[in-house]
Amino acid sequence: MVKPIPASDLKADSVISRLQTTANAFATITQELDLDIVLQLIADSARQVANSKYAALGIVNDQGVITSFITSGLSTQERELIGELPKGHGLLGILIKEGKPVRVRDITKDPRRCGFPPNHPPMFSLLGMPVSIGGKIVGDLYLTDKIGKPEFDDEDEWWLTLYARQAAIAIVNANLYNKSQQAQRNAQALAEVVGSLNHFTQPLALFDQISKATCQILGLPAAAVFLLDTRAGRFPLQIGTGLQQNRGDDVFLPLEGSIAGQVLDLGRSVVVTDLHQLDEVYMPYLASGQLPRSLMVVPIYQNGKINGVLEAYSQVARQFTPDEVALLEAFAVKASLALEKANLYQQKEEFLSMTAHDLRAPLTAIKMSVGLLADNLPDDFPPLLLQLVENISRNSQRLDNLMEDLLDLNRLEHGGVQLKLDRHEAGEIVRAAINSLTPLFEERGQTLSFNSRADHYWIEADRKRMDQILVNLLSNAHKYAPLGGEVEVSLEINGDSVEIKVKDNGPGIPLEEQSLIFDRYYRRPIHEQGSKISGTGLGLPITRNLVELHGGKIWVESTPGNGTSFFVQLPLAVSEN
Ligand code: ADP
Repeated sequence: MVKPIPASDLKADSVISRLQTTANAFATITQELDLDIVLQLIADSARQVANSKYAALGIVNDQGVITSFITSGLSTQERELIGELPKGHGLLGILIKEGKPVRVRDITKDPRRCGFPPNHPPMFSLLGMPVSIGGKIVGDLYLTDKIGKPEFDDEDEWWLTLYARQAAIAIVNANLYNKSQQAQRNAQALAEVVGSLNHFTQPLALFDQISKATCQILGLPAAAVFLLDTRAGRFPLQIGTGLQQNRGDDVFLPLEGSIAGQVLDLGRSVVVTDLHQLDEVYMPYLASGQLPRSLMVVPIYQNGKINGVLEAYSQVARQFTPDEVALLEAFAVKASLALEKANLYQQKEEFLSMTAHDLRAPLTAIKMSVGLLADNLPDDFPPLLLQLVENISRNSQRLDNLMEDLLDLNRLEHGGVQLKLDRHEAGEIVRAAINSLTPLFEERGQTLSFNSRADHYWIEADRKRMDQILVNLLSNAHKYAPLGGEVEVSLEINGDSVEIKVKDNGPGIPLEEQSLIFDRYYRRPIHEQGSKISGTGLGLPITRNLVELHGGKIWVESTPGNGTSFFVQLPLAVSEN
């Protein structure tokens, strides 16, 4: 209830003017929805209407801890010098803990005060009001140093009671708006991140994305993924964001005495608001060198069983809302599915490369034998059988190429390829590749031309690998261009790069598929490019990896029906003189 002021003290003019100014102020404040701006406007107009030198507005959380503090009347420099948020003891404590107004003539002499922090300007008279709504304290508003008078009076207190009520409504509204905006941002961030998880085929890269996304979604400084190692009975760190140590530093959480262990035991998420209140638990250090103060730990599943945890850390003590926990849990479920997918992909790749490896020895024997056979056939060997020998020879060579490509791509993707770099004249490399393939083009009546606008430009390249890049692009052009078609190769300098272009007049590639063709095994639908064109979908991924290993870029430009151009850009070698 607002305490009525004694009639004798009521100065009608002054009260009306205050109410008018207050009404005008809130007409503006309630239009604003950004919480920080709302708080500043509330503090500024309170100071102006009450005619005090300073005003301050603090926002408290459910635990009564001040989480924001806005001042009015202090310069930015004065505010910075004061430093930390007030703790909410002394006179402020009466406002936010007891929910009572405080009016004091001289703060410095009040026995309940707990003193100003260093660098705080001197302040004397004080009028403070809790800001509450529905009986719940959401903040405190106080004015200090009444101008022109030794202290605040009854009318000030009566007015501030009214003002604080209006302020509470504006704060709650802005808070709700902020929350709904945050929820919308969270949902959007989650949708984007979850979508991106499915593209990861390497578990480590996936973990990295998971922990970064966790920080981003929740606005936290650190997060980490730990996977359960049942045999060793612990959770080794897979990857962390914002941690002092990382994978490879032998960081792990034991089953006993870690929150991860609790999650495994309980089969559900665990949230800790203040780690100081727990007995010792195992915890990684944050990048700041401190231990986290609060954390949220949610399970990661594999085949329906918990096989790890996702931990999200806060450096300051904080409460995690049920919404935040639900958000992280939902994210962890999606992350678990993406992890299962990445694991399956890895298994498939390992199986393929093992198989390719194991098949090479017998295949080499077949190739050698058929080669010997072909060289030693009697003159009267029946043509039909000769055809069969040629078939075996050609197809075993194709199989060998396929195995080689598979193994090569695996090595490239796992950093297992070292380039042997030398200086080469770009035009010479392109010319050599063209010459080696000209007979192939002639077989299909295709013209292959070369137009160089850049002679005597040098690049640092691995000759064998550069040949592989060009042969891949040229054989695709040869394969996809029609009989009698035209393929033009050109070379030019673009800034400090050499740009090689391979242009054909084949069927072209629709825009939506242009980025996919660089993915492993991707081939355009057979009915669109003819069933006779054989391939494996490995050539372009290998080519891209090789170009990037040379520090270059590859891209495609194409219009269906109008041919395709592949571009390779490589850095020019630094001049030798
Ligand atoms: P492959 O040619 O063995 O199928 P690549 O990785 O070299 O594998 O190419 C992937 C896919 O990209 C091909 O299947 C084809 O659909 C498309 N493509 C590549 N080069 C061309 C080109 N010059 N013109 C049209 N489509 C092409």
